[in-house]
Amino acid sequence: QSTLKSTDRPAYPDWKPNEPVPYAALCTTFSKIEMTTKRLEILALTAVFLQQVLRLTPNDVLPTVLLMQGKLAADFEGVELGIGESLIMKAIGETTGRNLKIIKEDQARIGDLGLVAAKSRQNQPTMFKPKPLTVRSVHEGLMKIATVEGQGSQGRKVDGIKKLLSAADTSLPKGQSIDITQNKGGPSEAKFIIRALEGKMRLGLADKSLQVALAHAIVAHDVSKDGGRTPSEADIKKGEELFKSVYNELPSYEAIVPALLQGGIWKLRDACKLRPGVPLKPMLAKPTKSIGEVLDRFEGKDFTCEYKYDGERAQIHFVDHNADEDFAAAIAPLAGKSERGISNIFSRNSEDLSKKYPDILQKLPTWVKKTTKSFVLDCETVAWDVETKHVLPFQQLMTRKRKDVKADDVKVKVCVFAFDILFLNGEALVNKPFRERRDLLYSAFEEVEGEFSFAKFGNSREIDEIQVLLEESIKASCEGLMVKMLDGVESHYEPSRRSQNWLKVKKDYLSGAGDSLDLVVLGAYYGKGKRTSVYGAFQLACFNPSTEMYETVCNIGTGFSEVVLQELYDTLSPIVIDRPKPFYNHSEGKNDQPDVWFEPRFVWEVKTADLTLSPRYRAAAAEVGDGSHKGVSLRFPRFIRIRDDKKPDAATTSRQVAEMYRAQEHVGKDKKPGVDDDF
Ligand code: ATP
Repeated sequence: QSTLKSTDRPAYPDWKPNEPVPYAALCTTFSKIEMTTKRLEILALTAVFLQQVLRLTPNDVLPTVLLMQGKLAADFEGVELGIGESLIMKAIGETTGRNLKIIKEDQARIGDLGLVAAKSRQNQPTMFKPKPLTVRSVHEGLMKIATVEGQGSQGRKVDGIKKLLSAADTSLPKGQSIDITQNKGGPSEAKFIIRALEGKMRLGLADKSLQVALAHAIVAHDVSKDGGRTPSEADIKKGEELFKSVYNELPSYEAIVPALLQGGIWKLRDACKLRPGVPLKPMLAKPTKSIGEVLDRFEGKDFTCEYKYDGERAQIHFVDHNADEDFAAAIAPLAGKSERGISNIFSRNSEDLSKKYPDILQKLPTWVKKTTKSFVLDCETVAWDVETKHVLPFQQLMTRKRKDVKADDVKVKVCVFAFDILFLNGEALVNKPFRERRDLLYSAFEEVEGEFSFAKFGNSREIDEIQVLLEESIKASCEGLMVKMLDGVESHYEPSRRSQNWLKVKKDYLSGAGDSLDLVVLGAYYGKGKRTSVYGAFQLACFNPSTEMYETVCNIGTGFSEVVLQELYDTLSPIVIDRPKPFYNHSEGKNDQPDVWFEPRFVWEVKTADLTLSPRYRAAAAEVGDGSHKGVSLRFPRFIRIRDDKKPDAATTSRQVAEMYRAQEHVGKDKKPGVDDDF
C-alpha cells in the first residue's frame, strides 16, 4: 500500500496530461518490473504506473492494461500474436538493412530476438528521428499485424513489424547496457515490441497480479479524488476483492475499464455483470487417489458424484431474440444466429467453437425450453454413436475438423452433456449453491436423445454405492467421476479455479497409474534405426505461470506409432528454431540438449509411472528441489494424445507437478534414484 503514495513522483518527462501515453514510459516500467523478482515490488510498479495513466491520460488505460497483459484483446476475441521467429528475423533484416545470415548468427549467440532487434537498430545510422511511439499506436500496430488475413498476409505482417521497429527508440537508458547473459536490460522499445509479437512478455507480471494492481490503482485514484486522502488498507482490500470477483465473472478489460472510468470502483458491481457473450474461465477439479480420500475430504457434507464425460469442455451462451433489451450490447460478440436467438460455444480457453460445432447450434432450439430466454451452460461435447446410441471414446471426437464445419457434412455426431448452469434468464447463478443451480438446469432444458443430456449422477455417501457408480461410468465410456459439493458457499461456481470443491476420481488413479499431464513439446531427437528420417524422441515441459517459463520435465520416446511419428515430424519440422527460447528453463548439460528446438506450440497428454527428482530437468525445481537444482521428472512417460484444445500456457503447471510429486507416497521415505529416459 505504501508504494501507492509514490504517485506524486514525476511522470515520464515527455508525457503531458491528456496526451497519449508514450510507449517509452510503459517500457521504462516494463524494464523495472523485469529487473525484480519480488512480487510486491512488481505489483507496486504496475499499480503506480496505472495510477499515472488514470491521472494523466485515462483514455489510454485500456491499451496500457492490454499491453501489460501481453494481449491485444480478451481471449474470446480470438486475436493472437505468437509470430514465428523467421518472420520476425526477416522484418529485422529489412528494417535495418542487415543480412539475414548475420541476424541468425546474432540470434544464435544472444538468444533473445528483442535484443537482436535492438542491437541491429543501434548499428544503423538514423536519417531522421521517427515520431515517438505511443501505447495506443503500438497497440494498433500490433492489432493490424495480428488480424491481417488472406493472400499476401505474411508480407503485410512483415511490413507491420518493420513499421513498428523502425519507429522504436533504441537509445540505451543512462548507465545501462545490454546484459546478454541475463536477457535483461537494454534498449527497451524494440525489445518489448518483439516480445509482444512473440506473445510472451516475460515480465513476471501474472494475470492475477495485473488485476490486483489495477484494483489498487483505481482505488487510490478514486479515494484521492474525493477528499485528497490516501486509501486505507481496508479500502484497498475491499476494492481488490470487488475487482477480482467482477473480473472472474466478466473476464474482459474491454468491458471493465470503460465502466471503471465512468463510475469508479465502487459502482463496478452494478455496471459489470456476468453476461452471455463473454465466456468465463471454467472451474476445474483437483485429482484424488481414491473414493476413500473423497469421503475424507467431504466428510459430513452433502455431495454428488457425476459421470466424468470424456469429450471437450464447452460453454454454450444463448440469448433469445425476444430477450430483454439490456442484452442488446452483449449480443454483439455472439456468433451463430438461429431462428430462436443468438448463440455461441466457447472452449475451455475461451476460443470460439461455433465453426466447429454448427450442428449443436442448429439443434439447440430442440432442447432449449420456450420459457428459457438466455443462459450460459457449462457442458461437455462428446462423440455419439447414432446406431448403438452410446458415447464414443474421445479419439473419435478428435477426428472432427476444427473449423468451417458444415452441419450437413458432420460425420462424427456429438451429444451435449450438461452439468452446470451459470446464468439463466437474465440472472447470474455462480453465487448460488450447486443444488439450486442443478434444479434450475433441469427446469430450463429438455433431454433429446443423442443431442442433449444431463450429466448422470448419484448422491450416495456410501463407499460401495459410489464404487458401483464409478464402474458404471467407466462401462459407459466415461473417465470416472466428478464429485461436487452440493450446498453452501463451498458449492458456488468458482470461475478459473482448480477448486478443492470439485474432485475428480479417474479409473487410472485407482489402478495406481496416476493422473496424466499435459506438456509442451520444446525439442526433439532424431530417431535411430528405423526412425532416422523422423524424430524418435522429444523433450517436454510444464508451464510456470508466475515466471512465464517452460520448465523441462522429461524426454519421451514411448507411445508413438510409426504413422504418428511421421505426422509429428511433418507438423514439428516447420517450427524448428535455432536455439532454445530465453523462456525455456532447461538443463545446460552437454548430454541433455535435444537435436532440435521448437517454437512452443503443441500440448501433448502424457502418462507416467511416477515422478522423481533429476538434475537433468527443471520442473518445479524452485518448489521441491533440495537446493541442488534438481527438477521433478517423469519416469517412463508414455504419449497418449495431442491436446488440440489446450494452448501451451494451459499446460500442466509447475505447481501441479510439485503437488503430484509430493502426493506420491514414497516421497521422503524411499527416494528412488532418477531414471530419466526410456529410449
Ligand atoms: P482432464 O485431462 O482431466 O480433462 P483438465 O485439466 O482438462 O484435465 P480437470 O479439471 O482435470 O480438467 O477435469 C475437469 C474436466 O472434465 C472438465 O474441464 C470437463 O471438460 C470434464 N468433465 C466431464 N464431465 C464433467 C462433469 N460432470 N463435471 C465437470 N467437468 C466434467
